[in-house]
Amino acid sequence: MRSRIVAIFGILVWLTLLLSASQERSDTDWRLSINRNPVPLLTPIITVGDQLYLPIRDVLGPLKGTLTESRKYNAFVLSLPKFNLSITLKPNRKDITVNTIRHYLPAAVLLHGSRLYVPIPEFFNYLGFSVSTQNRHLLISPKRYTATTQSNGQAAKLLSVRSPLPRMEEGRLLHIAYDQKRHNISGQFFYKNDILFANLTPFFRDLGYSFEPTDTGFLLSKTHHTIQFFLNQNNAISQFIDHQTTIYLSAPPIKKNGSIYLPVASALNAFFYALEWTPQTRTIQVLSIINDIDFLTSSDRDVLQINSTHPLTIPSLTPYPWSPGYTMVIPNTKLLLSEAPPAKLKHGTISKYSAKQISPTETQIKILGHQPYDTPYIAVNSLGLEINLVNRLSSLKESTPGQFKLQTNGQISPSLTHDKKHKKVIVDVPFTISNLPKTLSSPYTGITKIRTSQYQTTPPKTRIVFDLKSTAYNATLTPHSSGPTITFDYAAPSSKPKPTATKQTRRSPKNESIKKSHYSHGSVLKGKVIVIDAGHGGKDPGAIGAKRYQEKFFTLDIAKRLQRKLAKQGAVVIMTRRTDKYRSLQSRVAKANRAKADIFISIHINSFLKSSVNGTETYYYKYKDRKLATHLQNQLLKDLKSKNLRTKRARLYVLRHTKMPAALLEPLFLTHPQERRKVITPSYRDKIAQSIYQGITNYFKN
Ligand SMILES: [Zn+2]
Repeated sequence: MRSRIVAIFGILVWLTLLLSASQERSDTDWRLSINRNPVPLLTPIITVGDQLYLPIRDVLGPLKGTLTESRKYNAFVLSLPKFNLSITLKPNRKDITVNTIRHYLPAAVLLHGSRLYVPIPEFFNYLGFSVSTQNRHLLISPKRYTATTQSNGQAAKLLSVRSPLPRMEEGRLLHIAYDQKRHNISGQFFYKNDILFANLTPFFRDLGYSFEPTDTGFLLSKTHHTIQFFLNQNNAISQFIDHQTTIYLSAPPIKKNGSIYLPVASALNAFFYALEWTPQTRTIQVLSIINDIDFLTSSDRDVLQINSTHPLTIPSLTPYPWSPGYTMVIPNTKLLLSEAPPAKLKHGTISKYSAKQISPTETQIKILGHQPYDTPYIAVNSLGLEINLVNRLSSLKESTPGQFKLQTNGQISPSLTHDKKHKKVIVDVPFTISNLPKTLSSPYTGITKIRTSQYQTTPPKTRIVFDLKSTAYNATLTPHSSGPTITFDYAAPSSKPKPTATKQTRRSPKNESIKKSHYSHGSVLKGKVIVIDAGHGGKDPGAIGAKRYQEKFFTLDIAKRLQRKLAKQGAVVIMTRRTDKYRSLQSRVAKANRAKADIFISIHINSFLKSSVNGTETYYYKYKDRKLATHLQNQLLKDLKSKNLRTKRARLYVLRHTKMPAALLEPLFLTHPQERRKVITPSYRDKIAQSIYQGITNYFKN
């Protein structure tokens, strides 16, 4: 984790000094494109320190804007009518006003050679435009709203959502609402320097946030997200999962008559909410942001995952009238996708999905199929909503007596329970609709009757019950790409009937492990391609416990120890970094995907704003990551005897973009005094590596 607290005024002074000494560099080799159209730069981009600056005049043409100077106020007004934007900028100042909302840039606006320069990419981010740089090529694409995954990509950071709040007369009726939670804040708000302040504590509490005073301010937190606010300071520290960043509020929090007043727009933006104003009810609507949609397919289920910054309510699906598929409208949301949905999907049922903001507070999702398909089942999960594809069970065929194959049109995950007492075997298949006959008979002597039913409708679940002749029969479930097989065999100790196919498939790995037992458990790792990702590196130190104790060194050391242990057992180990070098998350993921690795393990050391927090946690995102995460978490708990912070699901970059099962480990906290003492000890790091090694072995064994 990173914690960079920037002394704003220090930098301001330093910048001014730099400028007066004329140490800025003109970079003539930069190119600029707006909406993919090349734009000639009449004045070059300049660099001051680490900060890039763009001459604002050069983008006026392509954005159809005007820049006017007000000498009286020593300010410039940039007007972009096409985007409904009016921005006030002042030379040598970091604050800009975007449609009456004040934002803080990381560096001051410059007047240089009579041209106005703005820091990039931040300036355009505050306008809600998306900005990327590739090989000294700056690409700007105006969008109405934008959210971006933050610098290290491990969590979503909302850079800016333009606030549409108008100026409200003090003393008038005013509400703030999130979904059904509605608060009257009349008499609880005021303006200072044109910024709306309100006592939001009761509202945040109602949304499930905890409020904790500190010596210098207070902490507001909910699940993975904590913000440390400081009274009379406009910088705050935002901790999202394992990542810490300094954020800037439009104005410092103010304490007045025993209550804390926060700048409404920027405090809610900091918690990844968007805002909308409803004049009819005089309500500030607080919205959840839909930031990503992923189609996740695994061996047992296909899910369209709608990721949002806050919990969503289940919408109803409506058949799409023009082609096979469904639409749904998710209320109380702002759509700010960081990536456009793919144009086409390679999937048997779904051909395409899309999302669209259809009203200021509603998002429409459309899921199209190649041909008509069953109504998907929607459920709430910790990341937003999951839209589960529902499959049809078409037949239960008995290929050989006692061996049944379940046929379906997609991925299913049946479970088998053997009720020996009642001589019954129950097979449940979630997310399926049964097309099976209600009763079936079998030539196999061990089975008296087979019954099937649509056991449940929300979510749909099929149940198949096999009534057995006696308790002496065994039943096994074998997954297979063409559909799972249920096999029965007679298990009396004395007389064994002819072996079945399933028995053979079960027996072979067992024999193998007996044969190779003298290799210890190394044999399961032989030839496995394992990517070890040592978190952070180079300019990105990760968490800093104390001066010398940087996360990046510990993650690399553990990674190297783990590499040696795995290689010894014949695994093919790929390291995303071997030295203290910076590697982008994109390059780490690309390396793993190119190698078609079997698993991806990202090693981190945790930290938190409070030094009392300790324990072990493991993150996963895709359905196929879960098993790996569970094995690693269990083994770490067993070996380190640490507090169980559990496996958690999060949309972290390396988990989301790797194609193979992946897990991100946080074995302990660099910010916790006892755990820090452990992690700085080489022998303890070896213990962690040994534990991860054992966890990987267990994963491949099972
Ligand atoms: Zn980290």
